[in-house]
Amino acid sequence: MTVVRDVPKQLFIGGGWQDAESGRTLSVDNPATGEELCQVADASPADGRHAVEAAVTAQAAWAATPPRVRSEILRRAYDLIIARTEDLALLMTLEMGKPLAEARAEVAYGAEFFRWFSEEAVRIDGGLTTAPDGRNRLLVTRQPVGPCLLITPWNFPLAMGTRKIGPALAAGCTIVLKPAPQTPLTSLALAAILKEAGLPDGVLNVIVTTDAAGVVEPLLRGGKIRKLSFTGSTQVGRILLAQCADTVIRTSMELGGNAPLIVFDDADLDVAVEGTMVAKMRNMGESCCAANRIYVHTSVADEFATRLATRMAALKVGDGTEPGTDVGPLIDNAGRSKAHDLVRDAVKRGATVLTGAELPEGPGCFYPPTVLTGIAPDSAIIDTEIFGPVAAIRTFDTEDEAVTAANDTEFGLAAYLFTQKLDRALRVAERLESGMIGLNTGLVSNPAAPFGGVKQSGLGREGGRVGIDEFLEYKYIAVPVGA
Ligand code: ADP
Repeated sequence: MTVVRDVPKQLFIGGGWQDAESGRTLSVDNPATGEELCQVADASPADGRHAVEAAVTAQAAWAATPPRVRSEILRRAYDLIIARTEDLALLMTLEMGKPLAEARAEVAYGAEFFRWFSEEAVRIDGGLTTAPDGRNRLLVTRQPVGPCLLITPWNFPLAMGTRKIGPALAAGCTIVLKPAPQTPLTSLALAAILKEAGLPDGVLNVIVTTDAAGVVEPLLRGGKIRKLSFTGSTQVGRILLAQCADTVIRTSMELGGNAPLIVFDDADLDVAVEGTMVAKMRNMGESCCAANRIYVHTSVADEFATRLATRMAALKVGDGTEPGTDVGPLIDNAGRSKAHDLVRDAVKRGATVLTGAELPEGPGCFYPPTVLTGIAPDSAIIDTEIFGPVAAIRTFDTEDEAVTAANDTEFGLAAYLFTQKLDRALRVAERLESGMIGLNTGLVSNPAAPFGGVKQSGLGREGGRVGIDEFLEYKYIAVPVGA
């Protein structure tokens, strides 16, 4: 494939492409076929150290680069990404599996973080106030936090990178990016685009590795990285938070979710079914915002479940590069087994299968869109992030019962509610313990909005006006001016 052939396969350090010091490479596979796409350099701790050194060397000059210059580099990169939509979309479909239509949507979404933060780069503000004593002036300015380590997952190979790189560059921070080893090609293509857009050497460095723990820990303990922005599982997030505690590194954490989706008896069922399809099936369910637990009012539960199952059963499962495919493969066999085990456990405890639940034959990590009803309360699917195309439906009778069930989780990233009553919508939205709420919609991601969670779903926000704050420090200068 030309798109794969054209992507650099080496580490990007100090503005140049280089092999891993060990000479090792890792294999990038297509989850739709199980076949290898290519080999990419596999970094060792020494390569990680070199990447951090390059970021540290570039930091002062990048921080001093005029905001307009930083802004225009991001804007040029945005234009280049949009111009190359087809190539980037195909690359993502090949290495990650999502259907081309979804990959194109991700290119638009991911690129928008660069456009948004190109606009924010020139709006970093400060302040000058008079202290209460009337004699002192308080001058407040904001400065980049310093070299950042950005760690991203495989599910949105472009957008998870741009959502961190955009604000970091806008703020004046240099970067070491460590993408997931399953999907490094999109990040390497992105690094090439930023270089072409005029990003100075060393400002962005990209290391790909199969030894994430071995490469990352010394970097966090090395005293040079000032900020970690991580998107991934809560389990790994906890490990990284502990490592950052030792050297007091600032963190942003986008961790796991267990999103509830509530359909009230007064909901418009067409809107609720459509919203559930999006909340459940975007990215084959491999999203931390995916609806994981669906609670439907008893009076509309049968109709809702039947309609949802009809829609789910009509989806075409297949290779994401083929026209008409709605649902691509899951990322790997481990991901597929996890989803299937959760389904089997629920069925063993009494759930009814309305559609799906059968492991298909043949190559590729495919899993059919599945709808389950009558989920017993002790089923593992209620507490576990499914990360697959499985809709698990339970019923409720009162608003209070729905909210209590929705909040009964350690997670708090996204929640969805469907109701036509404004008072109920506001009342329930205020009571739900989650960072983001979709009201009569199944899509909350938006580059202009603050994305993030509460409880064990994370710390900090990405995107929106506040996204850049994660990469800036306040500095206050005391100025006595006399009586
Ligand atoms: P997932 O289960 O979705 O792959 P992970 O949390 O395991 O989520 O991975 C998210 C990112 O974190 C990936 O880039 C992965 O390589 C990285 N990662 C995994 N384990 C560690 C670790 N111990 N230290 C640093 N990064 C890690």
